[in-house]
Amino acid sequence: MGSLPVYRLLLHWQEGKLAGIRDFRYARYVTDGAEWRSSSRAPQAGRAANTGSRGASGGALWCMLISTMTLQPVKLLVIASLLAVGPAIAAQEASTPNPQATEAWSPVPPVVTPGATMGAPPSDAIILFDGRNLNEWVSAQDHTPARWLIRDGAMVVNKAPGVGNIETRRRFRDYQLHIEWRIPADVTGSGQARGNSGVFLASTGPGDGGYELQVLDSYSNSTYVNGMAGSLYKQSIPLANAARRPGRWQAYDVVWTAPRFNSDGSLKRPAYATVFWNGVLVDDHFELKGQTLYIGKPFYKAYDEAPIKLQAHGDPSQPISFRNIWVRELP
Ligand code: MG
Repeated sequence: MGSLPVYRLLLHWQEGKLAGIRDFRYARYVTDGAEWRSSSRAPQAGRAANTGSRGASGGALWCMLISTMTLQPVKLLVIASLLAVGPAIAAQEASTPNPQATEAWSPVPPVVTPGATMGAPPSDAIILFDGRNLNEWVSAQDHTPARWLIRDGAMVVNKAPGVGNIETRRRFRDYQLHIEWRIPADVTGSGQARGNSGVFLASTGPGDGGYELQVLDSYSNSTYVNGMAGSLYKQSIPLANAARRPGRWQAYDVVWTAPRFNSDGSLKRPAYATVFWNGVLVDDHFELKGQTLYIGKPFYKAYDEAPIKLQAHGDPSQPISFRNIWVRELP
């Protein structure tokens, strides 16, 4: 009943000031006659709003019932003043919109059954990799079937010459993505040459064209911070380092809002990325400045829908693995 600040203020003030009252009761009368409730305690400011029943229609009017009181004349004057403002309060309530005026009943959200365990795909997810095959993936270079390896339910980056990055057959615009990755326990190297890979949230060309969410061993490995794991490469600095040690599985949960372009190719709205790394928020609705660039300042290039791409980075460290990849397209 945030619409009754004057009334609540009066009650609050009255509770603290009328020490001469030894017993008093409050009652709330709902004007459509559907409800009558009373309380032996004076409602407190901020709590009075919760004492009514939900869904009651019509305005409400509080009445104060006082008995067994010993009042000095000045306090009687106060009570009289309170009663005098009653009609004004009632008028204020009558002009207050009903709570139903701000209730939305449609469209009803679709029912989605969550995964049985944390990280498991919900019922409306598109499964991009479940450990069995690479049917959803192709070479980013020539769109031939992906030639990465499957080992123990995970796909392993194939760093053999000529293989390169892989990307989804499907194209996406806005989506929620879950992907798990593991730096090998015996990883070697340092800086950008230690478990480097990447999730291109939109692949806009062969090679490393697109928008890269960096994958790297950042457990105890110093590098430029806008190039560590959790960074949108060379653009964002993750809000935290949530790395697990090599050999442990890690997860990214991403909300990708693709950029929008005008018909002449100019930017209409930038891209945004929100990233949770092992459940820790590391990119908070981050606005990208354009596609990922290794050298130079990023800029946008118009596209509509794009695949999701995984990087076979050229560093000599042991290849990393991915598993449990699913996506939910957003309306
Ligand atoms: Mg990378």
